[in-house]
Amino acid sequence: MTNIAIVTGGSRGIGRAAALKLGAAGYTVVVNYTSNAAAADEVVTSITSKGGKATAVKGDVSKEADILALFAAADKLGTLKVLVNNAGVMDQQNRLDEMTTDRIRRILDINTFGSIICAREAVKRMSTKHGGQGGSIVNMSSAAAYHGAPGLGVEYGASKGAIDVLTIGLGREVAAEGVRVNALRPGIIDTEIHDSSGIKGRVKLMRDAIPMKREGTADEVADAIMWLCSDQSSYVTGSIIPVAGGRC
Ligand code: NAP
Repeated sequence: MTNIAIVTGGSRGIGRAAALKLGAAGYTVVVNYTSNAAAADEVVTSITSKGGKATAVKGDVSKEADILALFAAADKLGTLKVLVNNAGVMDQQNRLDEMTTDRIRRILDINTFGSIICAREAVKRMSTKHGGQGGSIVNMSSAAAYHGAPGLGVEYGASKGAIDVLTIGLGREVAAEGVRVNALRPGIIDTEIHDSSGIKGRVKLMRDAIPMKREGTADEVADAIMWLCSDQSSYVTGSIIPVAGGRC
């Protein structure tokens, strides 16, 4: 049986690190991306050059049609066992009263709507209720769901708060159907997402606010993803786990 792992936003950052580890663990990895085809191709090549299997699939998770096409592409390859519901964006540092409606809608469409629709499609394939063989969904929340990101982007914090509630509710809804649903709450992780905030050197500037006095790496988050996808976390569902150096 070919076990499939879909990683949304698998071309860069945390998703990239997760895709590489899932590929090394024997999954056929569907590396979703939205614009950076070169980055997605690099991830696929890194996996296949080590004997693994992977394919890149372009798709914007804020669009239902793209999500359906992504899952349809995965269906052709094997049995879906893992969804890393990771694609996410943030915007420039702003207060809510400075934000446009378009910005707020974009953040919610990608981070929240996209994650919910991807989770729905995964449950349709994994749940024993639908004839599936079970699986693991790992949602990407954020420490912002806890501290709210005041002055930085409360719409982003809200978009991730919804991911926490999705994780608790869906985890319970499908707990007896072989599907485990968990979330990670990364803190400050050294990826390109911070460039969107417009704050130069944001990762370094945040070090003092982190109890461990350092940022995390994408690999450290990916290690937690791997645990949540493995049988070592077989009794864990509906859980939200900080990976934040003690910051929350
Ligand atoms: P990143 O380095 O900026 O990578 C973002 C990834 O998401 C890229 O692969 C990008 O694809 C993809 N993407 C963006 N918009 C998309 C869309 N509409 N549809 C499909 N894919 C899309 O970000 P990251 O830091 O790894 O963040 C990954 C997740 O962790 C996000 O949900 C983020 O909110 C969360 N998180 C990150 C941190 C942190 O400190 N880094 C902390 C807490 C939570 P392209 O390459 O095609 O652009």
